Amino acid sequence: MRERRPYIGGNWKMFTDRNSASHLARGVIDGLARESSIDIAVFPPFPYLITVGSILRDRPSTIRLGAQDCWTKQEGAFTGEVSAHMLKDCDVRVVLAGHSERRHVIGEPDSLINQKVLAILEDGLDCILCVGETLEQREQGKADDVNREQLLKGLSFVRKEHLERLTIAYEPVWAIGTGRTALPHDAQDAHEKIRGLVASLYDAETAETIRIMYGGSVKPGNAQELFAQKDVDGGLIGGASLVAADFVAIARAGVVSAGRSSALG
Ligand code: PEP
Repeated sequence: MRERRPYIGGNWKMFTDRNSASHLARGVIDGLARESSIDIAVFPPFPYLITVGSILRDRPSTIRLGAQDCWTKQEGAFTGEVSAHMLKDCDVRVVLAGHSERRHVIGEPDSLINQKVLAILEDGLDCILCVGETLEQREQGKADDVNREQLLKGLSFVRKEHLERLTIAYEPVWAIGTGRTALPHDAQDAHEKIRGLVASLYDAETAETIRIMYGGSVKPGNAQELFAQKDVDGGLIGGASLVAADFVAIARAGVVSAGRSSALG
């Protein structure tokens, strides 16, 4: 069975400017260019993709260029939107879909997120599908149902062979940008259920190989314990990814967990 390499993503959201984005990209490469046991991606804002992409190209590393969103069609009269096709043309390898800020601040429904997932995969890019419950939903005992629903709808019509390029990010909304992190066993519990759902939608082998990242106030101080959980395959990092040293330290926690799983065989 394929080993699940930890995957660490840095979502820069709508932060940085051209200078600080370049500086941050260089800091990430300086710290992580030699890491080969984990997968790493950075997600700068659209206007800085080309700049960051050229910095990544200049220094051989496995760090991938990612984009935070895209539209559902390849081209057309969609003022203000950017297609997966265009992102690919700019050397983007992976695109986020359904980030909680797109769901809850911008108001994207599951049906739109699903169309984005399909467009990203059809264009040959990797996709990170984000799911997660709000605090209210959690307090009402609806967390599992919400994750199930978002996953079912997000994965509609996604073919099994495309799942090799799809990663799931479990990001409880109450933990994003709040400084509150899910306890490691709560994250493990949610991830195990998500993996079980993938098994029921596809099959056991697909569920065993798909990566499920955790996102929500991951910091250098809590990353190791979170990534040590059996079903937590790395993390999607927001705030802490804006400080190169913090992102590097979090990614190194991923390296530790990669070492642990290969030692377990
Ligand atoms: C995110 O943006 O996906 C995220 C998890 O943010 P933060 O790490 O700041 O909670």
